[in-house]
Amino acid sequence: MDGIGAVLIDIDGVLTVSWEPLPGAVRAMERLRAVGVPLALVTNTTSRTRERIADLLAGAGFPVGAEDILTAPTVTAAHLRERHPGARCLLISSGDVRGDLSGVTLVDQEDADAAVPDVVVLGGAGDAFTYAALDRAFRFVQQGAALVAMHRNLYWRTADGLALDTGAFLLGLERAAGTEAAVTGKPSGTFFAAALTHLGARPEQALMVGDDIESDVLGAQHHGLTGALVKTGKYRAGTLEAAEGSPDHVLDSFADLPALLERLGR
Ligand SMILES: [Mg+2]
Repeated sequence: MDGIGAVLIDIDGVLTVSWEPLPGAVRAMERLRAVGVPLALVTNTTSRTRERIADLLAGAGFPVGAEDILTAPTVTAAHLRERHPGARCLLISSGDVRGDLSGVTLVDQEDADAAVPDVVVLGGAGDAFTYAALDRAFRFVQQGAALVAMHRNLYWRTADGLALDTGAFLLGLERAAGTEAAVTGKPSGTFFAAALTHLGARPEQALMVGDDIESDVLGAQHHGLTGALVKTGKYRAGTLEAAEGSPDHVLDSFADLPALLERLGR
């Protein structure tokens, strides 16, 4: 390996928890900015637009802007523009991500009932995932609509414990309709390819740092990037033993990333 020339950084559990910066994270980001390594913040979040995420991070002291952030919705929009140009898309999502779906034609329920949409797009799970909405999606897919999902996360962690996420509903929909969704968020190849294109880097030049060993770290390694796991956020004792593979690097926290990049010959 002749050094790392680009860095992909997960947000929640790496830089922040509940949008509060983790110890040393702001300082580490300042160091990465000082050496000028191309970087992208990458997240499957479907509850906020990249503008809103950038505001929250800037408010927490991180020297980043919206142009540094790639979310599952922004990558979904790029996928839809490229693979389904001009398609009429029915979005089922509980987060407000319409601001990140520029260039995508969204139809409402009445339009979709009048003429089958070309694509059914599943975003973040929540109260929008009603029986009526999911049954409508099932019927449209049976009638030929393509199925695209922003991610297949089974659950996410909230202040009150784990909450059921899109992947749990997607599995049933795929089985019932006899189809497989195109998934655009981490750890899909679509997502990592979009991030690498954004940074102008090849996989072997890029390092992904995250707190989710499967989706962030092993997912990135599967697509040819170097993976680094941080022991913050989702990390628990036993995470490494329970995983299907081993991270290339394990860091106590994001604060240790600048030193790792130096060692790797950035
Ligand atoms: Mg995370």
